[in-house]
Amino acid sequence: MTGQQVDATNQETISLLGGRVLAGGRISRDEALFLFNLEDSADIIGLLSWANRIREKFKGNKIHLCSIVNAKAGACSENCKFCAQSSFYQTGSPKYGFVDPEPVLEAAAEANKNNVTAVGLVAAWKGLNEGPILDEVCDRIRELKASGRTRPDASLGIIKSQRVADRLKEAGLECYGHNLESSRRFFPQHCTTHTFEDRLETIGYLKNAGVKICSGGIIGMGETREDRCDLAFELKAIGANVVPVNILNPIPGTPFEKNPPLPVLEILKTIACFRFILPRQEIMIAGGRTVNLRDAQSMIFMAGASALMVGNYLTTLNQPVEKDLQMLKDLGLDPCWDSHGFSDQGEI
Ligand code: SF4
Repeated sequence: MTGQQVDATNQETISLLGGRVLAGGRISRDEALFLFNLEDSADIIGLLSWANRIREKFKGNKIHLCSIVNAKAGACSENCKFCAQSSFYQTGSPKYGFVDPEPVLEAAAEANKNNVTAVGLVAAWKGLNEGPILDEVCDRIRELKASGRTRPDASLGIIKSQRVADRLKEAGLECYGHNLESSRRFFPQHCTTHTFEDRLETIGYLKNAGVKICSGGIIGMGETREDRCDLAFELKAIGANVVPVNILNPIPGTPFEKNPPLPVLEILKTIACFRFILPRQEIMIAGGRTVNLRDAQSMIFMAGASALMVGNYLTTLNQPVEKDLQMLKDLGLDPCWDSHGFSDQGEI
């Protein structure tokens, strides 16, 4: 940034950048870092008010709701340091094989009842290859699609062949969840059994198959603000449609069990910075929301969030869906159901 702009009051700079994004423009990495490094609470609240305007401009007052099913639990071969389901750590989390139709159809019925747009099948394993499991997965996706109006999503790990991605698409899969989790630089700090490149390659196969991409990350793992900034620009570069922001919920038994919680204003500022960098995406607040934000939860929408993961998480509890629906109603936000849940992305 030029010496001239740095001298401008922070509020003037925030307004300048906010106005540019509202007008369809972009912010640079340096400009984004300026926003990530705001410290003063008045500046951060100023940032939130612009993020809210950007959300309203590109997302209206619609809030998309997603829920997940733990379709295969525990005993995962990977060593992600935040994860209760890794076989590397003693966390006591449940272990079971790939699910039968019933739990998936129950989740779909619950989703239909609560205006939840999508149900995601999530599996705790390294990845998915051709074979009997892929056949079963495709059956579950077909059943989910046939169950009514819920969008069938899935998060099934690393994919190493275009054929597997095409099979998932043929079965009716609409969106694939595959977080980059953090910046390329920080990734080896939380996982060494697979790479950032493995995740980019997987996303490439799904995009080639015509499947939408749900990809975001986790904050609070010890990464820097620069890492969070770089993650947002990587997600912009891959053309993520939905961007989940998880906030670390330290699980006893994992290497991150003693990680200090992020301050609430730092979390809200991060969401707002993501909204500035990714103005048209669905920014979804996922895991760790209730334990980290407590009564400040509803401020996520002012910070720019346009989607919410509701219902319980894979191994931890969330607040009741009814409480989330009441929160949206109180804020005049519309938990709209939309077959695809992807409003016009336009220019990414
Ligand atoms: S790959 Fe997924 S399930 Fe396995 S340890 Fe990592 S985050 Fe957990």
